[in-house]
Order: sequence, then structure tokens, then C-alpha cells
Amino acid sequence: MGFVPVADGVLVRTSRRMSTTTTLVLGPSRAASVRAALLVDPAWEADELVAVADDVEALGARVVAGFSTHAHHDHLLWHPRYGAGVVRWASAATVRAVAERREALLAELTTDVAYPPEVLELFARVTPLPGDQVPDADSELPATRVIVHDAHASGHTALWLPDSGVLVVGDMLSDIEIPLPFDVGETIAELSAYLAGLDRLASWVAQARVLVPGHGTPSSRPVERLDADRRYLDAVLAGRRADDPRLVDPAMLAEHERVLRVVAGMHGRGGVSAQGREHRADRRRGEGDEHEGRQTLPERPDHG
Ligand SMILES: [Zn+2]
Repeated sequence: MGFVPVADGVLVRTSRRMSTTTTLVLGPSRAASVRAALLVDPAWEADELVAVADDVEALGARVVAGFSTHAHHDHLLWHPRYGAGVVRWASAATVRAVAERREALLAELTTDVAYPPEVLELFARVTPLPGDQVPDADSELPATRVIVHDAHASGHTALWLPDSGVLVVGDMLSDIEIPLPFDVGETIAELSAYLAGLDRLASWVAQARVLVPGHGTPSSRPVERLDADRRYLDAVLAGRRADDPRLVDPAMLAEHERVLRVVAGMHGRGGVSAQGREHRADRRRGEGDEHEGRQTLPERPDHG
């Protein structure tokens, strides 16, 4: 499947592997010139990376900048045909994580997928962002605000496109993946960072017209995605059964078990209730009525 528009000047393409999303943000069309483009998280298998280049050409576009939302192997790919010298931006924390884990990330990438050497050479060559916008020295691209947090991975970054109302959220707010808090460990700190990340995204989600997740399907009802993830985490933190349709996927069920293990560890230390309440209290302070609305959701039966 080629690129599909989700808003004016924003297109997505879905990989056969884990429904991974490649996002293309086009600059304004100018007569007799190719359109500049920002290419986000191109994925995943070698032939798909080539197909992305073919599609960009067919759209009459030229990649002038790249972006990696976070330091996981499926979000750090590139192909020489996008431009070997094109700058690929990422948050400073993402660049640090890549520097520390490059060999491990390469090993994960090539566990069961083969790539030509020129693709491996360009893997994870990211540059730290200088500010809170994707740089655009020649004013060729739509304004792109970056929202950095530490949910899912240190320095994980969402992109806000105010002109089109699109929020590109990386590996968050997916219709096929439950919240995945654990990156390098399996810790309470990562779970806390995840809750903080959701809170950080909330105001952008509220104003977005379209949400583009790193895996799964774009949505024209972004708030529903945020509510689903909070419902899941609230249930898990409260020790209630998480009745979530995404758990039909065995891989997600395994991730769910990890979350339950960490929450059980918090319970063991008597910390879960306090910590869960604290997060909910923070959210209440930050969001007013939206929280009250969620409070009216029916409680699920307690399965222990
Ligand atoms: Zn990821």
C-alpha cells in the first residue's frame, strides 16, 4: 500500500511489519518546483524503504529533512534515495540513547530482516534538535512543533502540525498496542514517566483533528485514544481487570503481564495506591472538566 492522505499535505504509509507508520509531511506546492517534504520514521523492510522513495518521487516531492520519534530500531531507518546527507532530527535524549545503544539497536534491527550495507550505514544517524521546532532554514515545510517526553522511551517525541491539526505521536496512543512503558528496564520509574507522558500529550490531543500512531491506524477521534490508554492504566493501577480489546494480541498480553508485574511490585511495597492516586490528582489539577467526564465511566468488576 502506498501513501494515503490523512490531512492536507500529510500522508501515511503502513508497513507490513507491525503496521508501522511512515509519515510524509509536504510543504506548500509551488509552480514548476518539487514539493519539499519531511519524512518521519520511514519503515520497515528493505523493499518497503525503496517503495517509500518511489512513492515520494511519484508525489513530486523531495525529502529535505527527516525525523525519528524515538530510539527504537524500527524508527531509526533511512535509505540513500531519501538523501544520504539529509539531516534527520531527533530529541537530544534520543540522540544520546542511540549513541549508547547503537550496536544493540542494530542487532535488534537485523535479527530477522536483512538490509543492504548502504541502509545499515545510514541507520540511526540522527542529529539533536536545537529547539522546539523542526528546523526549516529555507521555509519549505509546514511549522512542526516537537513535544518531548519520556514515555515509552527516553526523549520520545511527538510532532504537532498546527496548519493541518495533525499530531504524530510515535509509539503512543495506538489502536493495536496497549501502553508500552518499559524500554531499558521494567521499573516503576518508567511507568511513572509513561503517565507523565500521557499528561504532557493531553492538551495537544485535545486540539488535534487527526492522530497518527507509530503502529496501527490513524484516527480522527484522538481523544478516544488517550481515554482508552488512561482507562487501561487506571484499571491496572487500581488492581482491576483491564478489559481492553488490544489484549487479544498475544504479544500485547505478554506486555500486559510485564505491567502487572511492576504494579504488583509497587503493591508489595505499599506504594501503588499512593502513587496511582497521586497521578490521578495531578491530572485533575491539570485538566479540570475533562477528568470529571472520565470519572463517570462505569467501574469494571474487580477480578482481583
Ligand atoms: Zn518504540
